[in-house]
Amino acid sequence: MPYTSPLDDFSFLLDQVVGFDRVAGTERFAEATPDMSRAILTEAARLSEDVLAPLQRPGDLHPARLENGVVRTSPGYAEGYRAIAEGGWVGISADPEHGGMGLPQTLASAVNEMMSAACLSLQLAPLMSQGQIEALEHHASDALRALYLPKLISGEWTGTMNLTEPQAGSDVGALSTKAVDNGDGTYAVSGQKIYISWGDHDVAENVCHLVLARLPGAPDGTKGISLFLVPKFIPDASGAPGVANGVRVVSLEHKLGLHGSPTAVMEYENATGWLIGAEQGGMAAMFTMMNNARLGVGIQGIGVAEAAFQHALAYATERRQGRSSVENGTGTIIDHADVRRMLLTMKADVFAARGIALSCAVAIDMAAATEDAAWRARAALLTPVNKSFGTDTGISVSDMGLQVHGGMGFIEETGAAQFCRDVRVTAIYEGTNGIQAMDLVGRKMMDGGDAAFRLMDEIEACAEEARGVCPDLAEAVWQASETLRETTEWLASQDDMNIRFGGAVPYQRGFARVLGAWVHLRAALAGQGTPRETLARFYITRLLPEYAGLLAQAREGAGDLYALSADELAA
Ligand SMILES: Cc1cc2nc3c(=O)[nH]c(=O)nc-3n(C[C@H](O)[C@H](O)[C@H](O)COP(=O)(O)OP(=O)(O)OC[C@H]3O[C@@H](n4cnc5c(N)ncnc54)[C@H](O)[C@@H]3O)c2cc1C
Repeated sequence: MPYTSPLDDFSFLLDQVVGFDRVAGTERFAEATPDMSRAILTEAARLSEDVLAPLQRPGDLHPARLENGVVRTSPGYAEGYRAIAEGGWVGISADPEHGGMGLPQTLASAVNEMMSAACLSLQLAPLMSQGQIEALEHHASDALRALYLPKLISGEWTGTMNLTEPQAGSDVGALSTKAVDNGDGTYAVSGQKIYISWGDHDVAENVCHLVLARLPGAPDGTKGISLFLVPKFIPDASGAPGVANGVRVVSLEHKLGLHGSPTAVMEYENATGWLIGAEQGGMAAMFTMMNNARLGVGIQGIGVAEAAFQHALAYATERRQGRSSVENGTGTIIDHADVRRMLLTMKADVFAARGIALSCAVAIDMAAATEDAAWRARAALLTPVNKSFGTDTGISVSDMGLQVHGGMGFIEETGAAQFCRDVRVTAIYEGTNGIQAMDLVGRKMMDGGDAAFRLMDEIEACAEEARGVCPDLAEAVWQASETLRETTEWLASQDDMNIRFGGAVPYQRGFARVLGAWVHLRAALAGQGTPRETLARFYITRLLPEYAGLLAQAREGAGDLYALSADELAA
């Protein structure tokens, strides 16, 4: 399906809103000059538009399938994947020591957004590899890094993450996969994992699984979990894929969407694995991959939202229906106020979500470059907000895109429905958005809310600066930030975690609404008198006010959620 990369938005956000110059100003990322960044984004745009976007529909119509134990991917996926690998895009932010480009996550995020917009189900393959690369860079032994990283970074091999089991979904600590020490530096891994994205395929020569398992005698729960690297083919002495390992695909799931991505049930039977990180330190090591994937999945939502918006806009400027309600209208449905409302909402939310995602990526890069605890805390705080707002935006915007199409949205051939079906899972995988919200009000507030308050200080300083330029917008943003501050104080003072959890999702959504307003206000300041300011006005006057209801809900606690018994719910 046609897709045009939003290069102007990326440049504007990087230069004027999220402060990418701070990242490029560090020694670590000195190579990310404006010229280099522009060249990278332009090249990724070309790949996304010309090579990946044409694969979106075939992937939906011809899902990956299992044939005699081998997974066959959708038509064109092998060529599309090869183009991604040969362009060096898998290793865009990987360490140059092993062949990566060493570029900031911020640029990788913009690249990943374009690739997700063009073909979500294929983009999930390199996204999984990127997370695994980061986990191995931080936690694998020198020998494993030397053997695996060059292959993963070049894209010759791909990576997966294996957490989920039938009884262990959100509750990862309930897993039962076992690992036994072979006494020769390897472990025998046995158990079943479900829903493994790109668990097997025919687009690269080896698949490297990061598998969570429990060693004999290890404690129950997440404390007792270790992490193992289990390749599909065990590398031989020359490092080439050798004998087949004890891992096989039992079946592929039939899914609502994302058909081009093989989602596999994997069986491990005395499969040879290598320990990553410390024994029983598996969750810490896996969290490196999960945080990478959480940033990436939020961005997947934004990519799909952008593509769905473009699709709806194109339809709205062609479809003629009803008498034009404006003078000198086009005669198409874009003349109608309600269609305008939908299109502006879509555009304003995509811009807000993109600004939040890039702010999160900037914080990750600054933390990596400076090792400053404040940047680390900012990155940790923004990760669940980006994951959930990016994916919620993907869902709401693609839903609105379908609505703009009217009945044709419900007919598969327009492609509007595919965006809705494909993006739906992003709010579920990589920790459901409910689990993200609990992380935000739980672990991310162990500091009593300090990291959040520092962010609000910045929002309010920006609002003060804006008072001379657009006082009404500035006041609205300042008020919203104050309400967010009061709500955060209230939540952080609750010792009963279930009181926090009862309001976690509305709090997370309210938080994102306020952050989105900050993104738009900065855009309005940098783009005074331009459509950037007009869009900011739309967001701040029409979409931001939602924060008040959301944050009021967040302060309701959990009592009323239990007021009806399970029987009364069913009555
Ligand atoms: C297409 C697809 C691809 C996937 N890819 C992978 C992959 O590559 N690797 C992998 O390991 N997994 C993968 N998953 C699994 C995914 O991460 C899980 O589905 C997800 O974590 C939720 O687990 P669950 O499905 O068991 O739901 P459950 O944990 O059963 O959750 C059901 C509902 O209860 C809520 N809930 C559960 N526990 C709590 C709690 N403590 N507090 C509040 N609410 C709670 C959830 O938010 C959810 O709404 C994939 C899933 C899908 C559908």
